[in-house]
Amino acid sequence: FDALSAQDPEIAAVVVDELDRLRSGLQLIASENFTSPAVLAALGSTLSNKYAEGYPGRRYYGGCEVVDRAEELGIERAKELFGAEHANLQPHSGANANIAAYGAFCQPGDTVLAMSLPHGGHLTHGTKVSFSGKWFNAVHYGVDAKTEDIDYDQARDLAREHKPKMIICGGSAIPRLIDFKAFREIADEVGAILMVDAAHFIGLVAGKAIPSPVPYADVVTFTTHKVLRGPRGGALVCKAEHAAKLDKAVFPMMQGGPLMHAVAAKAVNLKECMTPEYQAYARQVIANAQALTKGLGEHGMRPVTGGTDTHLALLDLAETGVTGKDAEARCDAAGIVLNKNAIPNDPQPPSIASGIRVGSPSVTTQGMGEEQMTAIAGLIARAVKETDGDPQHAVAREVRADVSDLVTAFPAYPRS
Ligand code: PLP
Repeated sequence: FDALSAQDPEIAAVVVDELDRLRSGLQLIASENFTSPAVLAALGSTLSNKYAEGYPGRRYYGGCEVVDRAEELGIERAKELFGAEHANLQPHSGANANIAAYGAFCQPGDTVLAMSLPHGGHLTHGTKVSFSGKWFNAVHYGVDAKTEDIDYDQARDLAREHKPKMIICGGSAIPRLIDFKAFREIADEVGAILMVDAAHFIGLVAGKAIPSPVPYADVVTFTTHKVLRGPRGGALVCKAEHAAKLDKAVFPMMQGGPLMHAVAAKAVNLKECMTPEYQAYARQVIANAQALTKGLGEHGMRPVTGGTDTHLALLDLAETGVTGKDAEARCDAAGIVLNKNAIPNDPQPPSIASGIRVGSPSVTTQGMGEEQMTAIAGLIARAVKETDGDPQHAVAREVRADVSDLVTAFPAYPRS
């Protein structure tokens, strides 16, 4: 860091200010976390310099014998952690891992069946603005109107009608466990590949806190930076029979050289995930999300599906009369970072939204427990209902003072 400060004080200031921002507020974005200093060290290493197109032992460049060790260790750890037959740690991001899955199993124009974005899916699951909707014929299932959980009957009916090449389950705003066995049965019935996009919940699987999709899926794609708590990036695990196809789809179909510093950082993170401490963390992430959700419900923010089994919750703000957009801005001004989110069948456009999404991965990494979650629910309720988005509002200042007490007691990246 001294070298950065001396050479480029402007960017050094960005790094310091971002660390201050992380430390001074409550980070409740469900897809974020605080990765370890060991992971950051690997990310900031000279492995960033190396071109290593190909795979360990079969590279298109010389001098790869050292970085090969990092990738081999990472692959072995991923296979062991997830009980998988094959792993690929090279995708630069979750979206890239998904492109590879489409590339391995589908041709442009093929039909895929996935969860719709407004019901909790992801952009890469066939929305028109993404490669997936531009190049593939996407059909979407959603949630049941009553339970607000995945409508498996609809998914089965659409699969029978459209005979998709690939069925995708997983998404960005699904608070409940997914029935992977049910999706496997639907896929088998229509002869489809089953892709599970586990980006959001793979960390809970790694920590053995929820059931794994690996025995059921042809391919499981994921990001490495959410609950998992690794570096920003993507990865996939799959059955041995699909290994060669998926490896070729990652490189050379979708990417060039892998980011070897990121691959090494993924390996570091996977080792962390094999510890009893990480398993306790994963269980606490869920307990915290449940306590936070219960607290928000008691403050008149209705949990979609009635609660959560995972690290995130969706709250319908209708009863408060505040939109998701305003709630996000009011919380931000009070030192609480979360995001607006559409709820199923939202009457508002996505840019306004009727709900918010909250997640517990970051605050759990800080060491907070259920007691703090109940307190945070009260702070969110005050920010949403009693403030107006002005950071100088008296209640916003009071909430910020309480936030400050909490993050002082449970610091992110504690000063040693
Ligand atoms: N899939 C799901 C379900 C996600 O939630 C995300 C990101 O939030 C992605 C894929 C894409 O990951 P990335 O942003 O790394 O491309």
